[in-house]
Parts: sequence; C-alpha cells; structure tokens
Amino acid sequence: MIEGKGFVIQNTMDQIVEGLYVGSAMAESDAAKLREAGITHILSVARHYPPSHPNDFIYMSVDIDDLPEENIIQFFTETNIFTGSVLENGGRVLVHCMAGQSRSATVAAAYLMQRDTLTAEEAIATIKDKRPQIHPNSGFLDQLQLYYDLNYDVSTDKALYRRFLISHNVEHFKEYGNVGTVVAGLDPSKQTLPAQRLMRCKKCRRALITGANVIDHQAGAGQLAFSYNKRNANGVDTPHAFPQNRACSSLFVEPMEWMDGIRDGLVENKINCPKCDAKLGSYNWSGAQCSCGKWITPSFQIHRNRVDETRPI
Ligand SMILES: [Zn+2]
Ligand SMILES: [Zn+2]
Repeated sequence: MIEGKGFVIQNTMDQIVEGLYVGSAMAESDAAKLREAGITHILSVARHYPPSHPNDFIYMSVDIDDLPEENIIQFFTETNIFTGSVLENGGRVLVHCMAGQSRSATVAAAYLMQRDTLTAEEAIATIKDKRPQIHPNSGFLDQLQLYYDLNYDVSTDKALYRRFLISHNVEHFKEYGNVGTVVAGLDPSKQTLPAQRLMRCKKCRRALITGANVIDHQAGAGQLAFSYNKRNANGVDTPHAFPQNRACSSLFVEPMEWMDGIRDGLVENKINCPKCDAKLGSYNWSGAQCSCGKWITPSFQIHRNRVDETRPI
C-alpha cells in the first residue's frame, strides 16, 4: 500500500507469504508486472474469466461469483493442491478475483489455514497484514470457519459438511423451486459401521439411521433451519446423539439415500421402510412442525414409535 497526499493507492497485488500473491483482475492483466514479481502460476477465482496470458503462465480457474450463498469450500481441496505444488516447487502464484478482496482472499486463507494449521481468523489476519483491503463476504467467512471445523478436510463423509450442503439445498429451493443436487446420508444397511447407535424398522428390523444422521433440536416454539454452525445457539446440532426430549414424537434426520423421492427431486413425500414398506414418516423441503412446537426446515421426520434403537455393544 502506498500512502499519498490524503489518499491511498491500493496495490493491484500484494505478496502475503513467500511466493503467494493476492490481487485483482488488473494485476492478472499486467504481464510486465507479473514477470517482474517472478509469477509462474495464476489461480483465477472469478465468474467467466478468460486468462489474459494463457501462453505465459500456468492457470487454474475457479468459476464462482462473489456471493455469500456460493459454495466456495468445495474448491479448497483442489486450490490448495495447486497452490501448494507451485510453492513447494519454487514457483510463485497470483491468486486473483476482480477486486482482490473477497474470493481470492478466501482461497488464499484456506491454503494458509491448511498449511500452517491456522484458524480462519488467523489466516485472514495474515493476509490483512499485507493487503488491508481484503474483505471476504459473510458466507465465505462462514465457510472458512466450517473448513476449520472440518479439520481442513471437505468430505461428504462428514455430517457437518452434509449439513452445510443441505442448507444450500434449502436456499436453492427458495430461489428456484427445486432443491438441486442432494447429498444424502449413506444407507447403514449397505456399509460396515463403527459401533454406534442405530435405529431399525420396528416391523422388519432393517437398519435405517445412525446417530450421525440425526438432527437434534431443542423442544419448544420457534424456527430451526438445518445449521452447520456449532456455535449457532438456536441450531443445536449434535450429530452423535439421539434427541432425549420426550415431547418430540419424531426424530428429525438428514435425507437418507434409501428414502423414496430424494433422488428424483420430490419436494415432499412419505418415508417408508425400504424393505417392508412400513410407514415411517414423511419429509418436506419446506419444513414441518415437530410435536414439541418447533418448526424444522427442511424436515425429514421419522415417528419414534415406528423404529427401535439399538445401542452399541
Ligand atoms: Zn421436537
Ligand atoms: Zn421395515
């Protein structure tokens, strides 16, 4: 940053740590300056952004808008591999978006978090120290936080990440009238599970859901959206426990791959046992009310009296 007479000229790009630069589209377009800095690779994090110098630098492109509802965390694994391999091989990389404030800073922060085992706040502070104008949007900040909670491993095997994807399905549904692609919980009857609590169909004993599939909630009036944020006081998310509250006659779970209609994008449907067809409950992406009074969105609701819990031995 250069301070002039009563104004501040912001650099088009800034070096954050050795070999890692964050900058704007203007930085990407300035070949002379890129060469001067010794840049070898460019990571473009912008919507429909064609490389300015495809023959001079090695590019990776992430096609994404700077909007809080965009899923940027899904790219962190790939962008970190790209950035890491450049730096480990002595190259220099510019991570850029349009203004060099939100998307590029988010991707650079994710890299620093994983490499140096940092929290989101620490990584952001590291970048701000060199480029004060960075300002990841609120949704991206949440996703950096989620990245930390996921221990830098973005995998649909993790209940917390599936909760995040479900919250995106709900947003998609509100905006477009369909839920988009649903990542459903794995069928416990089709995999070997570590010892954990299991719910079986009361009638035929088929394994249906595990403790990790249950979305707990506090009894009482009010709204509950699926939340992946553990610190959200309203969204009580305890993936490894079944709800203890006896006021609730239903279990609320995540969408499961054995449920009819999930893959076909049906907004609501009955939930029947996939083996004996016994009625278990129903689901609705618009939400439903629990017997305790709480509204839960979306609702994948299984009546307690249709299932039996088995505890680990
Ligand atoms: Zn309830
Ligand atoms: Zn059954």
